[in-house]
Amino acid sequence: MTSALSFRNVSCRFDGADVVDDVSFDIEAGEVVCLLGPSGCGKTTSLRLAAGMDVPSEGEIFLNGKLVSTPKDVAPPEARGIGFLFQDFALFPHLSVYENVTFGLGHLSSDEQKTRALDLLNAVGLSGFANKYPNTLSGGEQQRAALARAMASKPKLVLMDEPFSNLDPQLRDQMRDLTLRLLRENGAAGLIVTHDAADALRMADRIAVQNKGRILQIDTPEAIYQNPFDLHVAAMFGPLNIMADAQSGGQIGVRPSDMALSGKAKDFSVEGEVHNVRAIGPDWLCDITLADGLAWQALIRGGARPQNGANKFFVPRARLMLFKTQ
Ligand code: ATP
Repeated sequence: MTSALSFRNVSCRFDGADVVDDVSFDIEAGEVVCLLGPSGCGKTTSLRLAAGMDVPSEGEIFLNGKLVSTPKDVAPPEARGIGFLFQDFALFPHLSVYENVTFGLGHLSSDEQKTRALDLLNAVGLSGFANKYPNTLSGGEQQRAALARAMASKPKLVLMDEPFSNLDPQLRDQMRDLTLRLLRENGAAGLIVTHDAADALRMADRIAVQNKGRILQIDTPEAIYQNPFDLHVAAMFGPLNIMADAQSGGQIGVRPSDMALSGKAKDFSVEGEVHNVRAIGPDWLCDITLADGLAWQALIRGGARPQNGANKFFVPRARLMLFKTQ
């Protein structure tokens, strides 16, 4: 099967620094991949390379099997047949919602444009909004209009840059579900750039973790969360307690949410002094100081408020993460 998007050993250098460094991955037809990484790691540049907005210093990029970017030749964004969805919605302010959605549909008859636009506006819950202008819409409505526009030309690939980060948490959940539904219904693949692990865990078929320009690991959300390749990857998915492992000379990583105040004899256990407990909804976030002075945290699920003072914490062996020294 031809991949919707392929990067082959792609690098992009600015001012002598490899902002994107020897990146290779494929997004299969209809697949949603999230590119997850800390600020400045090269996510947006990777997306801009896929869009034809930046030129690779090395490597090749293919869209649906067609070579579209080399260091010498880059097909422009409008020739790529892809949809775009950005954080700041980027609707044309002087065009109505209807005109925004039909903007790229000049090759269709006006009847076809109308059918497509009204179907999409209906799908995103904006059927009464066709004649409104962007500045009269709420942030959530603007983002739904931008989603309808991104899908209008039936792209095989939609590129999204932090598409939900300007929305409040409830709207963000709705937009994630809606975006995924529209991608699936239209058989479109998606590349979503985000620094928010929740976006990636909820939406991605596969997550690619990027750091300092390189892709460190690409795998399903479940596999990457449970078996992170290194501490950088593990730390993208929330807080991590770390200690040296005398046996291997490497490091042990434990997620606060994997710790409990009771367990089995075969569990890994650690003793520490609880000195602060905060209620996080039904759970308890405990600040702990281990005997050797390390600062750890435990998120204890439900039950009574844990007591300050000496406590023993248990971690199922399967939840322990072992890393070589970085
Ligand atoms: P964020 O999540 O903060 O948006 P990012 O992972 O998307 O970060 P990029 O926007 O790809 O990161 O930028 C990576 C690095 O490349 C940054 O240090 C940035 O300043 C630099 N950079 C990006 N574009 C250019 C450019 N056109 N010229 C010079 N440097 C650039």
